Amino acid sequence: MENTIERIYADAQAALAEAADADGVNDISIQYLGRKGYITQFLRSISSLPAEERPQAGKRANEIKGLLETEIKVTLERLARTTRKPADRIDVSLPGRAPEKGSLHPITQITNRICSIFAQMGFDVVEGPEVETDYYNFEALNIPKNHPARDMQDTFYVSDSVVLRTHTSPTQPRVMEKRQPPVRIIAPGKVYRCDSDLTHTPMFHQVEGLLVDHKVSFADLKGTLTAFVHQMFDDQTTLRFRPSFFPFTEPSAEVDIRCVICRGKGCRVCSQTGWLEVLGSGMVHPAVFENVGYDTSRYTGFAFGMGVERIAMLKYGIDDIRRYFDNDYRFLCQF
Ligand SMILES: [Zn+2]
Repeated sequence: MENTIERIYADAQAALAEAADADGVNDISIQYLGRKGYITQFLRSISSLPAEERPQAGKRANEIKGLLETEIKVTLERLARTTRKPADRIDVSLPGRAPEKGSLHPITQITNRICSIFAQMGFDVVEGPEVETDYYNFEALNIPKNHPARDMQDTFYVSDSVVLRTHTSPTQPRVMEKRQPPVRIIAPGKVYRCDSDLTHTPMFHQVEGLLVDHKVSFADLKGTLTAFVHQMFDDQTTLRFRPSFFPFTEPSAEVDIRCVICRGKGCRVCSQTGWLEVLGSGMVHPAVFENVGYDTSRYTGFAFGMGVERIAMLKYGIDDIRRYFDNDYRFLCQF
């Protein structure tokens, strides 16, 4: 008995494969699944089977009925696609579809904006390698062997003496070794740290700045960064310099700006403080100048560094840094 239902199924499948159009498929549907169809008749005949065969035969027949219904549907869809005449497919009265335009990634846009602001002030844009020697990443910047920044927790080591740069600062000694003052550079690029959460990603972007000349003072640093912040955000944005520590600058300062969202009243973005940390800065440490052979009695300078994602998050009001790296088209389209 089971052989019969399997044979009916095989015949139905063969007929479907041969069907040339929807009418043919509908005929097959009636022939097998209709009120007097083969499968329907088989289901009715189950009651006349020996009792022990009935459950198995009923189960299989219903299974085949379901399968055949699906196959009929799929065949109808396939025929609808392939037998449609070209004239049905092209509606010449529809408006044209404009090709989608590409645009620069928001991080690239902000990097370009930062660089162009400093370029207007006479800074050259330079780049350095992302795979960096221990010497340029640490040693030349007065970061000694036992400094916490060298911890395996923070730094990706390629080998004992080669790292993925943890900041764009190695560009400073690299440039100073080749050029005599005056030096005015801005160095954008990717940096790497073992860190990942809402506000940190293992790879992110920094922009480094360095100015060295005769009689450069902290006032020049303040003036330059104030001019930058006014152009990057707006000229109502006030700055605050907080004493800080970096091995390669002395004195050092963190720079905060008045919260661009709440204007200092206190909000979620600024953790109710009214201030946002945007960059680190300071006067270049004499030890750094000695490492590159600059005469510390003749030259002074300042340096600063900022995270591009951080600036972009503030500029666009984005609170999750990972959005910049998800490659979500809907997110990226907004910039
Ligand atoms: Zn705020």
